[in-house]
Amino acid sequence: MAKHLLSKSTYIKSLQCQKSLYLHKKRPFLRDKMSAVQLAKFRRGTAVGVLARDLFPGGIDMTPKSPSQYQAKRDETLLALQNPEISAIYEAVFQYDEVLIMLDILVREGDKWRAIEVKSSRGLSDTYLQDAYLQYYVLKGNHIQMLDFELFYLNEEYVLRDELNLQELFISQSIMNQAEEVIDLTALQIKNAKKTLQLTKSPEVPIGTHCYKPYPCDFIGHCWKNIPQNSLLYLSSEKLEQRFEWYNQGVALHEQSEILYLKEQIDALNHNTYYLNKQIFQEAIKSFKLTEPTYLKFLVHHAAIPTVSGRKPYEAIVLAVCAFQPHNQQQQIFYWNNTGQSNGPELADFLNQIWLNSSCLIMYENNKLDVVTKKLSGLNTEIQWINYTDLLDSAHFMLPAIEEKYELNTLQNKLFPELKPLKEEAWLLKDLLEEPEKNNSKVNFQLSQYCQSLHKLHQYFLAVK
Ligand code: SF4
Repeated sequence: MAKHLLSKSTYIKSLQCQKSLYLHKKRPFLRDKMSAVQLAKFRRGTAVGVLARDLFPGGIDMTPKSPSQYQAKRDETLLALQNPEISAIYEAVFQYDEVLIMLDILVREGDKWRAIEVKSSRGLSDTYLQDAYLQYYVLKGNHIQMLDFELFYLNEEYVLRDELNLQELFISQSIMNQAEEVIDLTALQIKNAKKTLQLTKSPEVPIGTHCYKPYPCDFIGHCWKNIPQNSLLYLSSEKLEQRFEWYNQGVALHEQSEILYLKEQIDALNHNTYYLNKQIFQEAIKSFKLTEPTYLKFLVHHAAIPTVSGRKPYEAIVLAVCAFQPHNQQQQIFYWNNTGQSNGPELADFLNQIWLNSSCLIMYENNKLDVVTKKLSGLNTEIQWINYTDLLDSAHFMLPAIEEKYELNTLQNKLFPELKPLKEEAWLLKDLLEEPEKNNSKVNFQLSQYCQSLHKLHQYFLAVK
């Protein structure tokens, strides 16, 4: 059989943007570097898929070790289907219409099969459904007699008690009827993607919200390279959809906008600088006692599969905290959750202790840390917290950037480009979870850099006249 042209991931790319499919296949060297967050998602998906196999034990694993094995594994899968001794196949490889898929689990039920694709998320997005429709199409093309096609995903209400209960951890949703209803559309979409791959040059596709949705595309660096830094597309205080609407209409915002702060933001953007309403900012910080602030950096892990009794999928766990007190001889203090499993009284004690020598605790967090702190029993309720992202939002802060919510690193790179960039949090988490002993001191150092960066940022904004 001829080599495949499309896989699940390239098909999904084609639905997001035909140009991204073309560039991926024909100009891969133009791709941006894979972010740590994307890499972590990919690893998590594989681990959850393997775990779900335990619901159907005794199967055989067809996972190809390299792309060179795809065709051999496909042949082996077809042979395994004929063997009544085989009750389940993991990563079953099929090809049809030049599309190659690997299905997570195929389970024998009498003379039919249950097809199962496992997702590590707590819900099903449209992309997951499209991905499943494609697999259904390929299985049907291979004349697999399906009893059902199901998507498994994580039950966010599941609470771990003693042992992991996989029956309760996963929710199953049948998508076979929908897949059958859209089968012609799936075939058409495959045809379109294949046509794109026959082009001799990349298709003309203008940039749009599809560059970021449903996923940030790998070719943003390439396609956006001629967008000037003061373009409206970088007006980070507005939703991306709104920015593109203005951009496509060529709206003259200075004349049209009635909102004063928006006018001022646009003015700042035109000068390729940030905007902060100084009056609101000064008013807001007056309500805090800033004489002896402590700057905190939390490292938070959201484990897909809970490992400690009482925990739910993706529940936040603080692995480490760095506390930096400039008023106290530049002291840095660390909290370590060496088990990586749960936050008990130690974290509350640590924060209470820090609070004893502070007038307020300042952090820059986008990740709903309040959910963790609210659950900590014994935490001093008088602690005065400042979340810098909230403070900046309240003062209509705008930084020329694509992201609506950006990390401290983005802010640092724009305001203090002379400083070495902070290491992405997703990499710190990976370092710590994979080799804690080896990486403890490296992570310590990075967390202190985060605290010092926030300190510098705060000093900078305080000095703004
Ligand atoms: S950056 Fe946008 S236009 Fe370019 S390939 Fe990606 S999605 Fe398509």
